[in-house]
Amino acid sequence: MKIGFIGTGTMGQPMLANLVKKGFDVLAFDVVPAALDAAVRLGAARAGSVGEAAANCELVVTMLPSSANVEAVYLGSGGIAENAAGGRLCVDMSTIDPGTSQRVAARLNERGIRFLDAPVSGGVGGATAGTLAIMVGGDARDLEEARPALAAMGSNIIHVGAVGAGEVAKLCNNLVAGSALIAVAEAFRIGEAFGVDLQVLTSVIAKSSGATWVMEHMHPVPGIVDGAASSRQYAPGFMTDLMAKDLALAVNAARERRVPVVVAPAAQQLYRLASSHGLGREDFSSVYKFLKPSNDDAPV
Ligand code: NAD
Repeated sequence: MKIGFIGTGTMGQPMLANLVKKGFDVLAFDVVPAALDAAVRLGAARAGSVGEAAANCELVVTMLPSSANVEAVYLGSGGIAENAAGGRLCVDMSTIDPGTSQRVAARLNERGIRFLDAPVSGGVGGATAGTLAIMVGGDARDLEEARPALAAMGSNIIHVGAVGAGEVAKLCNNLVAGSALIAVAEAFRIGEAFGVDLQVLTSVIAKSSGATWVMEHMHPVPGIVDGAASSRQYAPGFMTDLMAKDLALAVNAARERRVPVVVAPAAQQLYRLASSHGLGREDFSSVYKFLKPSNDDAPV
C-alpha cells in the first residue's frame, strides 16, 4: 500500500520510519525542508506538495501541529480535498479540536473522500518503538482498511466512536495528564521546601492514593526516574507548548458543551505562563522549574 504522509516533524518521522520498516511505500511532504529531508533519509520518497502526496497514494496520513494546519492542508487551495481521488481514505493523527475533525470530514464527504481522526498517545518513545496508543473516530469499516498501517505505528488501536470521538478521548486524557503533572510538581515543591527526601516522598506517593502514571514515568524532579525528561535537562518528550495547546482544546470543548471546568483552565494558564517564560519548547514537566518558591523574606 502506498501512503502519502504529510507532516514529517517530531512524531511524523519515527511514525513513517515504522511504516517504511513494515514494507509500506511512503510518499512524504512537509513545508519545512529539513523535516522532509529527514523523512527521505528514513526511506520515504519526496513529494513536492501536499497535492502531489495526496494524489499519488492509496491512503493519506497527516501529522500536523494544530487545527488551523489541518484545516489548511485538507481544505485549503492545493490541499487534499482538491487532489485526492474520490473514495480515498484519509487518517489525521494530529491532536486537534474535535469540531475541526468533524467539519473537515463533512467537507471531504461532499467529494466522496473518507476521513478518520486518529490522534496518538505515547510520545516520541512510543512513536519510535511503534507502540503508540491510537484513538480512532470514524466508520468501523474505514478503520479496518487503515488498520494495517495503524498497526505499523501503534500497538493499541481503540475505536472510540464517530468522527471527532478519537480527538475527544485524546483531549480528556491530556487534561488528566497535564493537570496531574502540576499537582505532582506542587507536591514536590512543598516536600522539598520542608527538606523531605524527594526519593522517599516518591516511594510514599507511589504506594498511596496519590500514585499517578505521570509521576511514575514523567517525574518532574530531575534524577528520580531514569528516562524521564527531567533527567535529561527537560528535553522533550512532550513540549510545554503542545500541552498548553491540548489543554486549551479541552477547555474549548468543555465550553462548547457547557461543561464546567475549574482545574483544566488553571493548568492551561500555568503551561502558557511557563511558555512565556521560555519553557515552551522544553518538556511540559519543566513547569516544575517555574513553580519554585519565592525567597525566604517574602511575607507569607
Ligand atoms: P512538529 O511541529 O514537530 O511536526 C509537525 C510538522 O508538520 C512540522 O514538521 C511542520 O513543518 C509540518 N507542517 C505544518 N504545516 C504544514 C503544511 N501546511 N504542510 C505540510 N507540513 C506542515 O509536531 P509533532 O510533535 O510531530 O506533533 C504533531 C501532532 O502530534 C500535534 O498535534 C501534537 O499535539 C501531537 N502529538 C505530539 C506528541 C509529541 O510527543 N510530540 C505526542 C502525541 C501527540
